Amino acid sequence: MKTLNDFNFSGKKAIIRVDFNVPLDENFKVTDATRIEAAQPTIDKILKDGGSVILMSHLGRPKGVEEKYSLQHIVSKTSEILGVPVKFAADCIGAIAEEAAAALQPGEVLLLENLRFYAEEEKGDVAFAEKLAKLGDIYVNDAFGTAHRAHASTTIIAQFFPSAKCFGALLAKEIESLNKVLNHSEKPVLAVLGGSKVSSKITVIENVLDKIDHMIIGGGMTFTFIKALGGKIGNSICEDDKMELALEILAKAKAKNVQIHLPVDVVAADAFSNEANTQIVEVNNIPDGWQGLDVGPKTLEALKSVVKDSKTILWNGPLGVFELEKFAEGTITLGNFIAEATKNGAFSLVGGGDSVAAVKQFGLEPRMSYVSTGGGAMLEMLEGKTLPGIAAILS
Ligand code: AMP
Repeated sequence: MKTLNDFNFSGKKAIIRVDFNVPLDENFKVTDATRIEAAQPTIDKILKDGGSVILMSHLGRPKGVEEKYSLQHIVSKTSEILGVPVKFAADCIGAIAEEAAAALQPGEVLLLENLRFYAEEEKGDVAFAEKLAKLGDIYVNDAFGTAHRAHASTTIIAQFFPSAKCFGALLAKEIESLNKVLNHSEKPVLAVLGGSKVSSKITVIENVLDKIDHMIIGGGMTFTFIKALGGKIGNSICEDDKMELALEILAKAKAKNVQIHLPVDVVAADAFSNEANTQIVEVNNIPDGWQGLDVGPKTLEALKSVVKDSKTILWNGPLGVFELEKFAEGTITLGNFIAEATKNGAFSLVGGGDSVAAVKQFGLEPRMSYVSTGGGAMLEMLEGKTLPGIAAILS
C-alpha cells in the first residue's frame, strides 16, 4: 500500500483528490470546515517536502456550471486553515487550469474549480481524467467519502500515474483502521449494529460474522428478529419479509460461535415523537399501539460488561431514534461504554452512517479510537467490497 511516506515531493506537483464538499450558509460562508481540516496533514507533508499542491474536489450536486457551487467560496477558509494563501483556478481543466498549475512554485497551493461542473467527472470519462492528470506529477487520493465511486478524479485518473500514485494520510488511516478491526484485531471482537433496517445491514452482518466474537443488535432492526422469534412487537418497525433472514443470521452466528446480544427491554412510545407517552416494557411484549424506539435500562445494564470486556469494537448504527431526545439515552449510554472501553485500551471504530452523526452530536468523537469520515464508503468496506478508488491506487 503506497502512502505519502513512499515519496519525496521536493520539486514535484502533487494533484490531490480531496473531499471539500463542505456545507455553506446563505452567504456562502463555510459552516463546518471539518473536511478541510482533515486534509491538512497530507497537504502539510507535501509542502514540507518542498512540493506544491493542486487540490481538486466536488461541491454539492451542480447541473453544469452553477455559481453557488463554485469552490471559490471556500478559498479564504482553506487559506486560513492551511496557513498559506490558496490560489484559485476558475476551471479544473483546460488552459486556465494548466497555466495556473504550470506557474505553481514549491510551497504553493492551488485549488481547482468544482469537478462536477463537468458531467464527465461522475461518468468516469477517461479523456477528462487525462486532462486532470496533465496538471500534476504525482496523484494522491485523500477523499475517502468518494472512494466508493469510479469517478474520473477518484479512480480513472490513477491509470495516468502508474508508479506515481498513493493514498493521502486520511484515506490511509481509514483503510488501516478498518483493517485493524476486521483482519488484525485483538480478541474479543465486538460489533454493535443498529439502525433502522435489517435489509440495509444484512451484507455487513454476513461479512463481519466470520471476524467477531460478539454482536450487539439494536435499533429498529431489533424488531424483525424479535417477531421472527415469536415476540409481540406492537407497532414497532419491522420487515416481515426479512424474518426468515433474521433467523438464518441467528443460526449462522450460533454455528460460528458468535454470541448475539438482542435487547431485553425497550422504551416504548405511543407515537414517533418527543411528546409521546412512554413506558419501559419487555422487548417481546410490546402492547398494540406502542412502538419500541430505544433500548431499555436492563438491556444497557447487560451490555455494559459485553462492551467493557471487548478489546476491539466496531460500531455501526444507533441503538434508538437518537435524533429525538426522548429516545437518545440508549445510544448515548452505549457510546459512553465504548468510550470507557477505549480508555482502557480497546480499539474502537465508529463508521458507516448515522452512528457517526450520533457520536459527533453527543461529543463522544474524541473518546473513540477512530471515527470514519465516509458514510457510504465505510459501509461498503464493512460489506467486504473493494472500493474502486482504493483498488485504483493498489493496482
Ligand atoms: P441506519 O441509517 O440504517 O443506520 O438507520 C439509522 C436510523 O435508524 C436513525 O435515523 C434512527 O432514528 C433509526 N432508528 C433507530 N432505532 C429505531 C427504532 N427503534 N425505530 C425506528 N427507527 C429507529
